[in-house]
Amino acid sequence: MNGGPPGTLRGAERQIAELLARHGVLTRRDLARHSGLPLTTVTGAAARLRARGVVEEVRDAPSVPHRPGRPASALRLTPRKSLAGAVVITHRVARAALVSADGRLSGRVEEPMAWLQCPDIVAECRRLIAEARRRAGDTTPLERIVVGLPVPLKAGSGISLLEEPPDGAPRESVPATRWLFQDIAPQLAAAFGVPATVENVCNLGALGELAFGAARGRRHMIYLHLVIGMGAGLVVNGELVHGASGLAGELSHLHVDPAGPMCACGARGCLGTVATADHILDAARPLYGPGVSIYDVLGLAAQGDTAVRRVLEDVGRLVATSLAPACVMLNPEMVVIDGNLGPAAASLIDGLRDELRRHMPTGTFQALTFTLGQLGDTAELTGAARFLSNPGPSLPR
Ligand SMILES: [Zn+2]
Repeated sequence: MNGGPPGTLRGAERQIAELLARHGVLTRRDLARHSGLPLTTVTGAAARLRARGVVEEVRDAPSVPHRPGRPASALRLTPRKSLAGAVVITHRVARAALVSADGRLSGRVEEPMAWLQCPDIVAECRRLIAEARRRAGDTTPLERIVVGLPVPLKAGSGISLLEEPPDGAPRESVPATRWLFQDIAPQLAAAFGVPATVENVCNLGALGELAFGAARGRRHMIYLHLVIGMGAGLVVNGELVHGASGLAGELSHLHVDPAGPMCACGARGCLGTVATADHILDAARPLYGPGVSIYDVLGLAAQGDTAVRRVLEDVGRLVATSLAPACVMLNPEMVVIDGNLGPAAASLIDGLRDELRRHMPTGTFQALTFTLGQLGDTAELTGAARFLSNPGPSLPR
């Protein structure tokens, strides 16, 4: 898409900009021929347009004729920069950045955030994106706002599918989150004056790794958030799968234990009640004391601590028993583990791989590779690029 502002130009400059808008790439000689202007006039006008950033030089473009002894050079309108403002809120932090269509982030912001206590998410997004703009020093108009939340969302909207309290009032334990049960996408769009997308964080992470990370070029993959939160992003035929009501990939509600504890979803013995950070800490505390945190555990695993690695491997096995039917049904080519986990993910992957091998047909298993995400804690923000008008490898749904 080109966005040079020919409307603000006059005379030769305007003629050149209009010719480039029509033809794409032209040499100065082509421009002189098409416009009927003298070559010196074209050269002068082109220099002024370049100085203003309206056009840019193209070297070695296929349409540029090569002449022996001199570099081929032509002009085109400078492509319009396509930029999203992205905010990703996890259970622990809020991150924001400006995201370009090629997945580059600028002006990154990261702050601790008790998001369930946040009284006004739209105001918070405005503040975070303003800060990202300030840090990036970039005043390019935003094409879209993308907000990632750690909750399941009703398909195509920003409405949480968490169970709404029966009287419509927010729960006592989360007094400030009335917005969680409203469609915040139109509110964000109104606040920023551009379209807004609200997406589950796992789905954004999957899109990031798919377009720019570990799953580049893949078409069938499962992206897993484990240990710190639990969820999955499913990609089939290069497209994110949301399901009929937006609940596809809700890994933590796969049934694993008929005698297990009750889950917030209303079922009993969901994976999310038995393979949580608390479950991992229960196993780690006898060895490392009551004060050990889940981040300590991940650090110990990265250092090769045998006991902790064993605990994480068991989590991988437990998840694999639930994941195997999904893998048999979908025949994915890759399982990507959230890159936030870093080296600690190796044990999880060992457990996953070993148990999946036992529960899957050989051919389906052999098609599958396991890898750690490459984008670390930027996967979700990067995924926002897929909602821009000229994104990477393939379009979002
Ligand atoms: Zn559940």
